[in-house]
Amino acid sequence: MDPSPLFYQAGPALPEISHAQGVYLWDETGKQYLDGCSGAIACNLGHGRNDIRDAMLAQLDRVAFTYRTQFENAPAVALAQALVALTHHHLEKVFFVSSGSEAVESALKLARQYFVARGEPQRRRFVSLRPSYHGSTLGALGVTGYEPLEAPFRDIAIGSLKVAGPDFYRHDDADDSRHVARVLADTRAAIEAAGPDTIAAFVLEPVGGASTGARMLDQTYLEGIRTLCDETGCLLILDEVLTGIGRTGAWFAYQHYGVTPDLLATAKGLGAGYYPVGAVLSRADIVETVMASGGFQHGHTYAGNPLACATGLAVIEAMQRERVLDNVSARGRELKEGLLALKARFPWVGDVRGLGLLWGVELVADADSKAPFPAEQNRFALITVLAKEEGLLIYPRRTLDGVAGDHFLVTPPLTIDAAGIAELLTRLERAMARFDREVNSAAPA
Ligand code: PMP
Repeated sequence: MDPSPLFYQAGPALPEISHAQGVYLWDETGKQYLDGCSGAIACNLGHGRNDIRDAMLAQLDRVAFTYRTQFENAPAVALAQALVALTHHHLEKVFFVSSGSEAVESALKLARQYFVARGEPQRRRFVSLRPSYHGSTLGALGVTGYEPLEAPFRDIAIGSLKVAGPDFYRHDDADDSRHVARVLADTRAAIEAAGPDTIAAFVLEPVGGASTGARMLDQTYLEGIRTLCDETGCLLILDEVLTGIGRTGAWFAYQHYGVTPDLLATAKGLGAGYYPVGAVLSRADIVETVMASGGFQHGHTYAGNPLACATGLAVIEAMQRERVLDNVSARGRELKEGLLALKARFPWVGDVRGLGLLWGVELVADADSKAPFPAEQNRFALITVLAKEEGLLIYPRRTLDGVAGDHFLVTPPLTIDAAGIAELLTRLERAMARFDREVNSAAPA
């Protein structure tokens, strides 16, 4: 067979997918995998759902594509209304896109255009966290704090002021509240040094995703950032590409903390793996200001097309019908308990953290000192391979930029049942037992 013309990443040949149903996928050899990470934290309702397929087919039979400047389309209006309702009308305007990167990119541009329209063109800089991941297009990459991804493009991406967020696993402060106070004071000082009136927006994920292994922020920190944004006169953009649409047990993760953003980016779970669709949600007055200045100078061909929006609407309706958020909370408790039991059993599990069905597991060489494994050992890759051999997909990442250590995410479909969680934990335990043997056999005598 000719080698595949596809190129994504260096790495071993991949098994070819055959089909999928519920939380399971099968490759061409018949091997079964439990989807412990919803693909890339996208397939939030599991695979092969008839209700989503039926909604998509019904829309395909009517019209798949229309361009947003030529026709209004009912699915787009209905999905926008549904999203606004999910924010309890705090955010009242919606701009559709097709991916998370586009959602972040659009939010950055909307923030910038808002300040241009308000006669504050000097507000052109963004503040974001290191580490963080906000996407791969040049704007979204510019606010991303993840060294290997940034390095080749640093000179041409927009860049941002990168500040540290709280790290409740590794900080040296007297206690967590003093840690948060210090991080907020450092952030305030960095913004003051950079010039508060040059800042357009602060961008952050309310719960860390892939770049931090689900590192949690907290109420005081988020309230502090909200206050800082208000005092600085900049906007707060929450990147809920990964956390939005139920992943943490609330429709949006900010709702756990009661801290409302000015702009919100979401994607991944909105199309639930059935079709690409993302959105920027905005405070009404921001959009009104921009529209009064001549309109948002931005857009993508596939934005808000009927098929994308019919899919997103079917996803939200299914989640409401099946009370999926309740399931996230119940299954999340079981998953947390199971992961903590594994942490108690294996000394190299340094930290287990998360919310709802978004969990991160950090692996360390020494739990007392929290020293990471040497980078060249690629432990994050080993645990992922072992899990896959045991029929479990997890989402791995070596964390850099201030969070030392290997980690992986456990983020199953939000519809997983109790038996699915038990099976996930059984397979993970088997992979971890094999990892344990490898670690011990590699340890110096
Ligand atoms: N923001 C966050 C928080 C993400 O997790 C991701 C994807 N991992 C993105 C943005 C980019 O989304 P996409 O890959 O759909 O462009």
